[in-house]
Amino acid sequence: MIEVVSAERCIACDKCVLACPTNVFDTGADGVPVIARQDDCQTCFMCEAYCPVDALFVAPTTHPAAPGGLDETELAADGRLGSYRAHIGWGRGRTPGARLAVGPELPGAARMVAPSAQEPEPAGTTSTTAPAQAGTARKAPTP
Ligand code: SF4
Ligand code: SF4
Repeated sequence: MIEVVSAERCIACDKCVLACPTNVFDTGADGVPVIARQDDCQTCFMCEAYCPVDALFVAPTTHPAAPGGLDETELAADGRLGSYRAHIGWGRGRTPGARLAVGPELPGAARMVAPSAQEPEPAGTTSTTAPAQAGTARKAPTP
């Protein structure tokens, strides 16, 4: 559940306000989001993931922390502010989590062949594969 918005770190970009699927935040007069409807939080971590300056902390709980239970200075000191974003590898200089993910082998994956190694298509047929261009390797989008 969303617990902390660090006014010290926030740059008032509104990304968390827009990312939240349940409209938990209001934008404060100074541009810093206010947790206005904490009970509506679904603990989806999207706000923390999108915050570019690691100003948010979503606790991995479904109920609010006890009053005084979470201290912003302590969270910042031990690296928990924005730690979800860091763990999924979003942000400049980080490795996207999808590149590190380990999962079960996909059925048929062993039969997959790179386009350059495939048999040439018979003359007169139409290719459904986009031509590979030298030096145009795809890059993962940067969040
Ligand atoms: S964790 Fe999800 S539901 Fe909760 S405030 Fe953040 S974006 Fe909204
Ligand atoms: S995403 Fe981060 S920097 Fe942007 S408004 Fe929200 S808390 Fe502030």
